[in-house]
Amino acid sequence: MPLFAESRPRNFRTAQQVQRDLAAVRAVLSVFSADAIQPGDCAGFGRGSLDRDVCFLRFGGVQAAVRSGKHDEVAWPAMAAQLETPMNAALISAPQDPSEQAHRAHRQAEVVAALSTVLPAHALLWQKEDTIPYECDGLTAYRAMPLVVALPESEGQVAATLKACHDLNVPVVARGAGTGLSGGAMPHPMGVTMSLAKFNRILKMDPVSRTAVVQCGVRNLAISEAAAPYGLYYAPDPSSQIACTIGGNVAENSGGVHCLKYGLTLHNVLRVRGFTVEGEPIEFGAEALDAPGLDLLSVVVGSEGMLAVMLEVTVKLVPKPRLARCIMASFDDIRKAGDAVAQVIAAGIIPAGLEMMDKPMTAAVEDYVHAGYDLNAEAILLCESDGTPEEVEEEIGRMVQVLRAGGATAITVSENEAQRLKFWSGRKNAFPASGRISPDYMCMDSTIPRKRLADILLAIQDMEKKYGLRCANVFHAGDGNLHPLILFDANDPDQLHRCELFGADILETSVAMGGTVTGEHGVGVEKLSSMCVQFSPAEREQMLAMKRAFDPTELLNPGKVIPSLVRCAEYGKMHVRKGLLPFPELPRF
Ligand SMILES: Cc1cc2nc3c(=O)[nH]c(=O)nc-3n(C[C@H](O)[C@H](O)[C@H](O)COP(=O)(O)OP(=O)(O)OC[C@H]3O[C@@H](n4cnc5c(N)ncnc54)[C@H](O)[C@@H]3O)c2cc1C
Repeated sequence: MPLFAESRPRNFRTAQQVQRDLAAVRAVLSVFSADAIQPGDCAGFGRGSLDRDVCFLRFGGVQAAVRSGKHDEVAWPAMAAQLETPMNAALISAPQDPSEQAHRAHRQAEVVAALSTVLPAHALLWQKEDTIPYECDGLTAYRAMPLVVALPESEGQVAATLKACHDLNVPVVARGAGTGLSGGAMPHPMGVTMSLAKFNRILKMDPVSRTAVVQCGVRNLAISEAAAPYGLYYAPDPSSQIACTIGGNVAENSGGVHCLKYGLTLHNVLRVRGFTVEGEPIEFGAEALDAPGLDLLSVVVGSEGMLAVMLEVTVKLVPKPRLARCIMASFDDIRKAGDAVAQVIAAGIIPAGLEMMDKPMTAAVEDYVHAGYDLNAEAILLCESDGTPEEVEEEIGRMVQVLRAGGATAITVSENEAQRLKFWSGRKNAFPASGRISPDYMCMDSTIPRKRLADILLAIQDMEKKYGLRCANVFHAGDGNLHPLILFDANDPDQLHRCELFGADILETSVAMGGTVTGEHGVGVEKLSSMCVQFSPAEREQMLAMKRAFDPTELLNPGKVIPSLVRCAEYGKMHVRKGLLPFPELPRF
């Protein structure tokens, strides 16, 4: 039978590495005689295997693995032992590029030696079994092994680590909890990943000024927990709030259910303090509501670790509302549900949360958390009101009126706190619920004008047919911030490829509808190509100029967020929309 193997240059995968992958595949195939491969047998790669320098192949009953990369002698036998069959004997070391390996080993030794002078031994990791937990963030389809992981414990150590890396011209990738969904904290293969997990102290809680000063590694939810005794909380509430750090939130300008009413991270942060790429102290914003000079706070918030390493954040706290109630409204038509969202806002109401789930998503979460969702609805809306009991009663009444007029087929209003939390339990567990119905999912994140919600959801339904993959939708409808979850199996390279195309189509259709390629998850590596569609070369050059103003040597999180000219030219060559070439002035390669 014909057998196809493919390795594509993706992210940091060089042409040399692609050749190595293919050589490895050829080597393992040579172990099997042609007779052993029967028609109908399948060959496949393990999850993300090519990116992890190992591929697993299965022919009928037998299984083999081949290493195509740099597995050290400790990790490799453990991996080999995982094989189900006695075919371990077929393990082969494929031809490796000695010069590439030697260069990496030399560089690693150099960086470890330099950092050993500024960090204690336990704060420095470089053996593969120690650094593998850092190889990706929440976007697990893309991985890279860091050269070294640094875990500084004091500001002095952060400054010294940055300075040492700068002197050696080594890239640095800051990392919080690694829950990012766009690959922002994915390591640079020749760089230092700086984990800031140890900066986890709440330094000051001031109920009078309603502010808190916290270190960057403090978890989002921990701030609200610490503020609770004062009747206060930190409003931006990403669904990952139990794990994600405030440093990561600031770097991504994270949002959440409450952000429609209370604002994004940017609107809830007063001051950020940290270090430049050279290890010099830097500060943005002020404890006061306004700071003299240019507003660089709004530049650094959302800068995805490209401008500075942030160590301390002053956040605003808001009073906990006396009452919150939630409406669950069913719609028999996606268009009616989408339009109802726009109508609520147009009526002058800013709900404390306005979220939407489509039928596939509702089915997945209902099966998981039994929140009482209407399984016959094409879409359901969750609309929350908070404030004093009088305010809530008045706002709930007005929202019910608008939703009824918009064609809601059923409306339930929470009668008590337990019921309200039950309504939200489905929304908050949507991602894990998706993990139960598909081996993998990729969560996209774009924003469109609210009035186009129905249009994009219907367009996504067409894309499901086009790419042959299912998609479930759960999102911050009030903000027009979509989160389509494309369901796929990462063990199948073709499905991963179709998933990538599907995702890019969603992002670029959002732009065509007047929206943006990002919502709250950042650009990272995931949306690099789609940035070429949204921004002109001149705009991208301005972004680069801003980066260089802070980081002239481009060592902080390089290769992320701002696509290169070459990448966009290549991408432009592949994407011809409506017969028109984007950026026609660019040379094509
Ligand atoms: C189940 C799930 C649900 C999610 N829900 C939401 C949601 O509702 N809303 C939302 O906005 N996001 C959501 N996210 C995405 C993610 O949690 C956020 O982007 C979060 O802010 C990332 O924080 P982190 O500490 O994990 O950062 P990381 O993933 O470690 O890093 C993210 C980026 O920040 C940079 N960075 C981290 N710390 C620093 C620092 N101290 N200084 C400089 N740069 C730094 C990194 O270099 C990287 O570019 C979700 C993720 C998951 C897995």
